[in-house]
Amino acid sequence: FHTALADASTHFLYTRGNNPTVNLCEEKLAALEHAEKAKLVRSGVAASSLAILSQLKAGDHAVVVKDCSSWVQYFFITYLSRFGIEHTFVEGTDVRQFAEAIQENTKLIYLESPTTFTFKLQNLKQVADLAKSKKITTVIDNTWATPFFQNPIDLGIDLVVHSASKYLGGNSDLIGGVIAGSTTLITQIFENEFLHLGPVPDPFQ
Ligand SMILES: *Cc1c(COP(=O)(O)O)cnc(C)c1O
Repeated sequence: FHTALADASTHFLYTRGNNPTVNLCEEKLAALEHAEKAKLVRSGVAASSLAILSQLKAGDHAVVVKDCSSWVQYFFITYLSRFGIEHTFVEGTDVRQFAEAIQENTKLIYLESPTTFTFKLQNLKQVADLAKSKKITTVIDNTWATPFFQNPIDLGIDLVVHSASKYLGGNSDLIGGVIAGSTTLITQIFENEFLHLGPVPDPFQ
């Protein structure tokens, strides 16, 4: 019990954290995205919000693809601005737009390729290389492409989020989300964001 308490991320301590049924689904989602680990969450919005929150603190700046899901835009404009987190929107069709928008305090680049409704593309490899050279974390919403057509982790992106409510869920009969990435990043998100904010997926869904 003490071992489980000390490391809730690898034990079935309490279902707000881990659950065997949910874990099984997470293993399959991690495999689909070529990721070490994945965390299933209650919605696509929970996935993007947790991934974003995990990388930013007051005084930080993010570069965000302009035509990403409107909920992510609102999150930056109306919510994160209350906590002193700045952002710059870029079209994203040319890597130079990211290079120009990056500031001293940029900690996150948020991508969505193709973008919602306008289907604009970013060159994921070029953006990932640029971000790595500046120690900036990259997050992509891969909902539209699905893991069937695009595995951003293979191209150097750090975190992949999905709305499982769309293609990933398959049948238009569920609301869900997933965050996939390295064991280190996903464990940090589990401990620092997921356990505190509680967007727990239903084990029987
Ligand atoms: C629907 C959607 C979201 C939000 O997902 P929910 O599951 O509705 O919370 C995020 N990104 C994209 C690209 C979407 O289509």
